[in-house]
Parts: sequence; structure tokens; C-alpha cells
Amino acid sequence: MPTIDGLPPLREVISTHGLSAKKTLGQNFLLDLNLTAKIARSAGDLTGSDVLEVGPGPGGLTRGLLAEGARHVVAIEKDSRCMPALAEISAAYPGKLDVLNEDALAIDWTAHLTPPIKVVANLPYNVGTELLVRWLTPKVWPPLWQSLTLMFQREVADRIVAQPGSKAYGRLAVLAQWRSTAKIVMSLPPEAFTPPPKIHSAVVHIEALPAPRFEADPAILSRVVAAGFNQRRKMLRAALKGVAPDMEDRIVAAGLNPTDRAETIPIEGFCALARQVAAG
Ligand code: SAM
Repeated sequence: MPTIDGLPPLREVISTHGLSAKKTLGQNFLLDLNLTAKIARSAGDLTGSDVLEVGPGPGGLTRGLLAEGARHVVAIEKDSRCMPALAEISAAYPGKLDVLNEDALAIDWTAHLTPPIKVVANLPYNVGTELLVRWLTPKVWPPLWQSLTLMFQREVADRIVAQPGSKAYGRLAVLAQWRSTAKIVMSLPPEAFTPPPKIHSAVVHIEALPAPRFEADPAILSRVVAAGFNQRRKMLRAALKGVAPDMEDRIVAAGLNPTDRAETIPIEGFCALARQVAAG
């Protein structure tokens, strides 16, 4: 049966190019082009934006991004077996798709795209969180990207959008929500993928705010948050003891209670703590 973009169905692409899924590369492919188009749409209007895609694999999501009218797509794929399949997509959309046969953890992608930039990816689970943390902690803010629309294991997605007082609330929530908005926009069962993974998945949409919600030095905030959640069962005065001298006084000066636990502290509280630590 012909597809909407005239390219072969993904099952055929996989068998033509011998793309049997490799576990070591986190390969769980999306073969339903309606679903990949829906994920592409959840990134918002792509027509005026460059899109960075990580891990295009056989290209289902790539085709969705191009069909949704992305200005230019740069796709980074580590598995060289996928290159011929991706070249066919490039040929169907002349000048719109560049594929880099690289490791996304090793490459500096910034020179390949022009703002506004949206990042959209069905990430390999083994590198997903690492890439997210890098994207959320650039040297300058606002970052080069306008939004991140990313597939995660459901449990990681829950941690990204978690609110204070919940079990999932931690470093990832503070990082993602301090200077961005983060929400889950789609949930996917294992059967949506080939082969199906053991876990459920979700797409998270993160939009960069022009400035942080509350003032704080990023490095100090990161230190305070890491120390707080490293021993999340401990009270702040014990968990943060090594962060700065007279920590208990600083916790009080930040308007917090030394007997509180990190998991109940809102982002505003962590930023107040970071300012007190910076006060010397
Ligand atoms: N986007 C495709 C889809 O939705 O069907 C494939 C998703 S699959 C979960 C993850 C993809 O990321 C695989 O194609 C894998 O080869 C690729 N990948 C794994 N590690 C990578 C890395 N470090 N850099 C770039 N691509 C990587």
C-alpha cells in the first residue's frame, strides 16, 4: 500500500536494508507513520524551524518531521546500517534533510543548524537522560533550542514533570522546570514499537523560558540540588551539611526549615538556598 509521502512502508524499508533491531543501540522502532506524524505535530509548528533529530533509525519520525513542513532537519544516527534508508528520504525531500553518521554524545551539532531550532527525538533510552541534562544545562540561557520534544521511558517522563512532594520529584524535575515548562503530551504502550520494549513510554514537550523563573547561579543550584536529593530521606540540615559553612543558618535565611526534606522543597526554595550559598 502506498504511503502518504510516496516512500516505501517502514517494514519494507527495514527488510530491504536489513535493519534488524540492535539492543545495544537501544533500537525500538516506530513503524506507524500516523503515529510518527502525531509526535512531529506535538512539537508545534515546524514550518519556520530547523529540527535536530537524534537517532532517526529507519526514518519514521524523520518522515513525520519533513511531512509536517520542517524548514530543515539534521538527523544524527550512530548506526551506519541506517544510512541508505535515510538517503532515500533525503532524495525525496531535496535540500531538506542532512544526516550525520555520528554519535550524538560526541558531536557538536550547533554549527549544523540555524535558529529557531526545535529538538525532536525518539531517543535511545541508554543515552536519553544524558542528552537531556546536557540540553538543559548550556553555558548561556536562553539555549540555542526553542523546544525539546522527546520520547522517554514513562518513569523518566514522570520524573521530568514531577511536582514537589511526589516520589518522582528530584534533580531532573528541578533542572527541567527551573527555566523551562515541561509536560507529557503523549503516552505510548510497548506495542507501539518494534520490537516492543518491556516498559511504557511517553513524549515530553519542554519549552525554554526566556529567563529562569527564579534567580540562581546554575552551578551552585546544581550543587545544592544534587546534595539535597543524593540523600533524599535526610533532613536538609544533614543532607546539605558539606555544601557551605554554617549551612543551617543559610537554610533558615532562605526561608526554609532545616528539618524539611529535599523532596518537599519547591524550585523557588532551591533557588533561595543557592543564593544563600553564593552569599559567601
Ligand atoms: N527514531 C527511530 C524511530 O522512532 O523508529 C528510532 C528510535 S530508536 C529508539 C533509537 C535510535 O537511536 C536508533 O536508531 C539507534 O541506532 C540510535 N542511536 C543509539 N545511540 C545513539 C547515539 N549515541 N547517537 C546517535 N544515535 C544513536
